Amino acid sequence: MPIFEPHIHMFSRVTDDYERMAEAGIRAVLEPAFWLGQSRTSIGSFIDYFDTLIGWERFRAQQFGIHHFCTMALNPREANDDRVNDAVMEVLPRYLEKDSVLGVGEIGLDDQTAKEEKYFIAQAELARSHDLPLLVHTPHRDKKRGFQRCIDILKDLNFPMQRVLLDHGNEETILITRELGCYSGFSIYPNTKMDPDRMVRILKEHGLERMIINSAADWGISDPLLVPKTTALMRENGFSEAQIDQLVWENPIGFFEQGGRLERKDLEQPARIDRRETFTGNSVLRGQEP
Ligand SMILES: [Zn+2]
Repeated sequence: MPIFEPHIHMFSRVTDDYERMAEAGIRAVLEPAFWLGQSRTSIGSFIDYFDTLIGWERFRAQQFGIHHFCTMALNPREANDDRVNDAVMEVLPRYLEKDSVLGVGEIGLDDQTAKEEKYFIAQAELARSHDLPLLVHTPHRDKKRGFQRCIDILKDLNFPMQRVLLDHGNEETILITRELGCYSGFSIYPNTKMDPDRMVRILKEHGLERMIINSAADWGISDPLLVPKTTALMRENGFSEAQIDQLVWENPIGFFEQGGRLERKDLEQPARIDRRETFTGNSVLRGQEP
């Protein structure tokens, strides 16, 4: 059964990860633009990163049979950095026009500052004017207050909740998001925060409607196979194949196809692999035979 991994930072990962992910059934990935572990000092670094997300990284994924999409945004942490924040806002609209960009994100709150809120609101407006859904990162510290604040801002803006994915949820936040009509995202990690056991318990209690799970895998301690590992645990716990399909295929596609750019039929087969192909003169072969 194919899997749509709806939040993973492949920019930070290696070729072996793509191989293992394809073997584990991951057919498509969505890579949100994010923070790179240290601050960027100029707009040029953002432009190169955004170009990679729609260029090389997409090409690289395809060479392993995986369809690659992304969302674009000024992340909440660097929204606080005056060296880059306004300049990123200036270039964002042109990236939001690209075919493989399925939404605005991840925006949200991190330290929960006034500046973060200012750029959150500006980017929600960009999502609205581009008719795109919104991927919202919620803070890992002081989560409950940050979660509520994100919701209050979206309500003030009258942003349609079915076009919002509130990510990095837990047992507490699901009680808030269930009734809102938004999608509830959960990032599953090897040790901390949300693990597969806790995730399966949440699914048993709250069902599968508008639920989305991801591995969020980036440069930190993480595991790009945590979605397939969680589905294996779901099977052991009596979930049916149809239920698993809903969680890891229908739900993420249902959310991202709201922007009008994701075609379900394009995902019926793995991405076309031709390792002799090049992107700006480079292939994944590095001189080896296909
Ligand atoms: Zn992320």
